[in-house]
Amino acid sequence: MTDVLTNPAATPVPDGMIAIDNPATGEQIALVENLSAEGVQELVARARRAQPGWEALGYAGRARLMYRLRHWLVANRAAVIDTVVAENGKTREDALLAELFYMADSLGFWAKRAEGYLADEKVRTHSPFVFGKKVVVRHRPYGVVGVIAPWNYPLTLGVGDALPALMVGNSVVIKPSEVTPLATQMFADAAREVGFPPDVFLVATGDGATGAALVDCADMIMFTGSTRTGRKIGARCGERLVPCSLELGGKDPMLVLADADVERAANVAVEWAMRNAGQICMSVERVYVEAPVYDEFVAKVTAKVGALRQGVPGAAGSVDVGAITFPPQIDLIESHVRDAVDKGARVAVGGHRGPGPGRFFQPTVLLDVDHSMSCMTDETFGPTLPIMKVADVEEAIRLANDGPYGLASSVFTRDIDKGERVARRLAAGVTWINDAIMSYLAQEAPFGGARESGLGARHGAGGIRKYCQTQTILTTRWALKREPTMFPNAATRSRLFERLMVLLWGRSPR
Ligand code: NAD
Repeated sequence: MTDVLTNPAATPVPDGMIAIDNPATGEQIALVENLSAEGVQELVARARRAQPGWEALGYAGRARLMYRLRHWLVANRAAVIDTVVAENGKTREDALLAELFYMADSLGFWAKRAEGYLADEKVRTHSPFVFGKKVVVRHRPYGVVGVIAPWNYPLTLGVGDALPALMVGNSVVIKPSEVTPLATQMFADAAREVGFPPDVFLVATGDGATGAALVDCADMIMFTGSTRTGRKIGARCGERLVPCSLELGGKDPMLVLADADVERAANVAVEWAMRNAGQICMSVERVYVEAPVYDEFVAKVTAKVGALRQGVPGAAGSVDVGAITFPPQIDLIESHVRDAVDKGARVAVGGHRGPGPGRFFQPTVLLDVDHSMSCMTDETFGPTLPIMKVADVEEAIRLANDGPYGLASSVFTRDIDKGERVARRLAAGVTWINDAIMSYLAQEAPFGGARESGLGARHGAGGIRKYCQTQTILTTRWALKREPTMFPNAATRSRLFERLMVLLWGRSPR
């Protein structure tokens, strides 16, 4: 097991360890091991040895433990929220709603639904050659799944992805982000405490090299993170011929049409551009507003963003927007704002770093923006909301689809038919009409990116079957000792099959 040493005063950082800071206060809160490649191989070997026993426990046995883990989570919610807030710099509400609520729901969802999604499927085949034979498709675990997670939602996007993999009967080695490993470690400790076998859910703390070592030896990789890292992981998995599922970056557009409920659109834009300080892969990263409602939308958004309270997350309700979790991210956010301003954009609200010692960037609204600016084309992943006026819906669609990403998108209009027509033309894995994000909670429906935003999806049947190898089993119970297709080849039978072919498929198409 990886050591977590809670040690607020620990400096300097010993070799082989990583210091974990509270992004909102700048304080060092823990040290974790930066696991070597050999250390990762050892964890994977342990997980591999534990896997058959875990699989043998069956769905009911694994589900029972999932429910126990959910019970632990609810009972220990205060400690878990404290840990998430401390390592992430997010507000208590961000931690409670998007991490703990999701995890509690997801633990029950997979515990209840896994067996149905993975039940053997009896195939009725059309082929005359298979007539009378039984064909069954079975889903079975790969063995050891490596989950590599980002820092913005360490529980939901790390442990959350481990849950379906575990319910299949895989063991999991999870590599949390090097800046947010503590809540993940806490969860793995809790899993053992509630009765999970010791080595079926292990945590490999460490940096990118630790992640790369996991990609080198796990049997399947579930990765969430940047497109840049996703490409490397996809390439390595291709070399090893092991499957991977990639949830990557986005630059999600919101389209506000002239007939929209502008008040609702403004509330949703502010909520999902600023929630978690904009550090959400599917946050609203850019807005296109049809000219007739542009001024009204801008006025509402500007007032609402201006009223947000930012600061060190304290008690529930104390602040709306927290810190920037990942140190280099604040430079990127600042560079996007500076680039926009240099090219003629106007800052309507915010625009600067907040006071330290923690890492804060003010909730920011940018106007007079266009696609020559990085804030409209590259992922910002911060509390910024660039708003662009468009002449009509066609221009909005063209600009929304301009770029390499395709994670999520949203359309605001009172004309639902039009909204659905527009949605179908957007290059995105997910589109919301008069809403944002909420389909993520419908765990029955897939969430995954199009284009450079990913390969594969989480949630739904596909979100658990991706952790399985399929095995097709054909059973012949009653048959001739020698079938007509068997040796020796004979001209009479060949003629018979030719006639059969003509009879079945020889008619000319209409
Ligand atoms: P990142 O790609 O820098 O790191 C993600 C994880 O990969 C970390 O654990 C990191 O240590 C590890 N890693 C780095 N290099 C590696 C390598 N060569 N091999 C294996 N692992 C390696 O991403 P991040 O900065 O942690 O997260 C932010 C990004 O994640 C944003 O682009 C965001 O859009 C994306 N994201 C996507 C989703 C989604 O569901 N599509 C969700 C959340 C975040």
